[in-house]
Amino acid sequence: MTGEAAHDRGHTHSRSAVKLDPDRSLHLDEVIHQCLHCGMCLPVCPTYALTAREESSPRGRIRLIRSVSDGSLECSPAFADEMNFCLDCQACETACPAGVHYGELVEEAREWVAEAGLDSLVTRWTKRLFLRGILSSHRRTTMFGRFLRFYDWSGLREAVDRSGILTLFSRRLAERHQLIPRASAVFFDEVARERIPAIGMRRGSVTFLSGCIMNIAFTELHEQAVDLLTLNGFDVIVPKRQPCCGALHGHNGDRSEARRLARETVDLFSSCPSDSLVVDSAGCAAHIKSYGTLLEDDPEYAARARELAASTREITEFLSQRGYAQPTVPVPSTVTYHEACHLVHSQHISREPREMIASVPGVIVAELPEATWCCGSAGIYNITRFDESMELLERKASHIASTGAEIVVTANPGCHLQIEHGLRKRGLDIRVMHPIGLLHKGCGLS
Ligand code: SF4
Ligand code: SF4
Repeated sequence: MTGEAAHDRGHTHSRSAVKLDPDRSLHLDEVIHQCLHCGMCLPVCPTYALTAREESSPRGRIRLIRSVSDGSLECSPAFADEMNFCLDCQACETACPAGVHYGELVEEAREWVAEAGLDSLVTRWTKRLFLRGILSSHRRTTMFGRFLRFYDWSGLREAVDRSGILTLFSRRLAERHQLIPRASAVFFDEVARERIPAIGMRRGSVTFLSGCIMNIAFTELHEQAVDLLTLNGFDVIVPKRQPCCGALHGHNGDRSEARRLARETVDLFSSCPSDSLVVDSAGCAAHIKSYGTLLEDDPEYAARARELAASTREITEFLSQRGYAQPTVPVPSTVTYHEACHLVHSQHISREPREMIASVPGVIVAELPEATWCCGSAGIYNITRFDESMELLERKASHIASTGAEIVVTANPGCHLQIEHGLRKRGLDIRVMHPIGLLHKGCGLS
């Protein structure tokens, strides 16, 4: 492990015992005891590949979680470090023959770590300022978006980059600055109508998730998604003032806030009946599909949470299930596909985006080595575990370069921004697109 993470771990905290409620403890025990210790998850684990240490593998982490849960090991800074070093990419779940829900374990363990005050300083402040301080509120996310818009428009961002002032403090700070997303010129909810009617024969209606960061930084993608949904016969309902779905909070052990945001999301979408909730961010779709489990102990919300989860569809999944007009306009290009963890591992969606890409005339698909490996974005990981994140990004960018592709396609905003950064750093002129962006072109809509 590398410099800054180790530095962040230099904090001192008293060790703490974890107290679990008995029902929760029983459930965790069941999940933990499913593990056969076979090690089939080790070769797919990026953090094991970086370190070759058993403690940094899924099997090793399960052992640590079991020991902390049964009280034979204390929740210590070393334990906290391993839990936050994990990407929660869930590649181990795909590889596991016993069906261990590893993601559930690590998210629970991160909650123990946070409650014991053992998060590193960077992690604690990122969670406090960015997740709770900004994303938890639609109003504050919009204000943040306006600030970013001003920051870009005024030329301040370029000035800061060109001046090299941040490198005087730290090279990592300067590079993190480049990872801050650019705000869209207009935010999606500033321009989207609340109901956009289907074009031609109507086949149904869907609600559409505009999200938090997607709403302020991915307006063009959302508009392309709405174009394709309406073109394929669906009325699209876009409720105003949508809350963040809470995915980043949940993955980072702030499950009380994740539950609060899930309740807000359930309230909003239950009041707009439709066939499906369609989501064009892999991470948000995966998280909303888990609402049934997240809110299972809440008698007021459990049934509605299960209903919303069951009706949620990631957009390539939705269009593939319902059928879509085949693209006819050639987009002559070599395209490679990076499989976002929360699409392929959490939702087992791989065929659908691949078929969508291949359906566009003129596209030559070049297979990406390690296509299902995490790019190192992993929510807030590229802020909190910068060095390891950049190591994984470097590996991903070099695989992308090896394909000779002109376009790399991925269906998750975090991967999109991270890979764009990696390619820019290498001076590679390769465009990053969502499968929907490519289909939109192939349908002659852009
Ligand atoms: S979630 Fe990813 S990084 Fe974490 S243990 Fe599993 S494979 Fe490794
Ligand atoms: S593959 Fe599954 S059962 Fe085997 S060690 Fe990994 S988590 Fe345990």
